[in-house]
Amino acid sequence: MAEPRKKKTIHDYYKVQKELGKGTFAIVNLATRVADDQDVAIKVIDKRKCKDTAALRNEVSCLKACQHRNIIRLHELFESKSKVYLVMELVKGGELFDRIVKLGKYSEADARGLFYNLADAIGYLHERSIVHRDLKPENLLVAEESNVDVKLADFGLSIVVDDGETLFTCAGTPGYVAPEVLAHHGYGKEVDIWALGVILYILLVGFPPFYDQDMSALFKKIMRGDYSMPSPHWDCISDDAKDLIKKILVVNPKDRLDIAGIMNHPWLSEELPSLHLES
Ligand code: ADP
Ligand code: MG
Repeated sequence: MAEPRKKKTIHDYYKVQKELGKGTFAIVNLATRVADDQDVAIKVIDKRKCKDTAALRNEVSCLKACQHRNIIRLHELFESKSKVYLVMELVKGGELFDRIVKLGKYSEADARGLFYNLADAIGYLHERSIVHRDLKPENLLVAEESNVDVKLADFGLSIVVDDGETLFTCAGTPGYVAPEVLAHHGYGKEVDIWALGVILYILLVGFPPFYDQDMSALFKKIMRGDYSMPSPHWDCISDDAKDLIKKILVVNPKDRLDIAGIMNHPWLSEELPSLHLES
């Protein structure tokens, strides 16, 4: 008598090699597709640990809808009783955070190339009314062979907003969180722009604009927009780069540059041979 056919699971299609990283409620593994030996990253989400299944659905629908070379591609999705598996494009170079630590800081040319790619990806999301809300170097992955090829990961906190609608939940990470989030004024796409400013600052000098061991002191600094560009770290940075940061790290979201304003800023719009653009 023939044996009953066993239902196939993800493990019939992918072989897990090793762990790549851990996040708040997920583990990301390196795996190989059995059919063609292609390496992928699989994010394994424990449904029992993840009470917020709405956030999970958000991540899936955001990733599915996105096709941009600086946003991680979602290949396919598996679900078991206790877990959700997101099979994603593999990025081999690790987190931007570790790249910055390794290099100390970015050269201005590399910072410009990376920032351009990142702003382009955020512009793509904002055009589709998606706010990422958790932009930070831990959620940005870089290619192995290049400092500027960056990919946006971790849409766990992103949400699709209607134009003009403001979001009220307190999301984000201290240090990158925008003042309007802390002031509970509601917030929109501008929170991603603020985080871009924080990331650009860190890229150029290797330390953050807002820092304090005491969380409430840190929040106060952010809400006041209280940061500086101390010597000697900032002495060799161009005036254009400083000007761009000053126009992004503006406390009132209404007065902050938007993506179009960033892309048209002289620091990014000058003719630049080092700018990394897809041909
Ligand atoms: P969480 O939502 O739990 O924070 P992330 O999506 O940020 O999870 O993933 C956690 C870590 O796993 C990342 O910081 C990164 O180190 C690694 N990682 C995630 N996606 C990939 C990928 N596509 N390729 C390589 N590493 C990845
Ligand atoms: Mg993460």
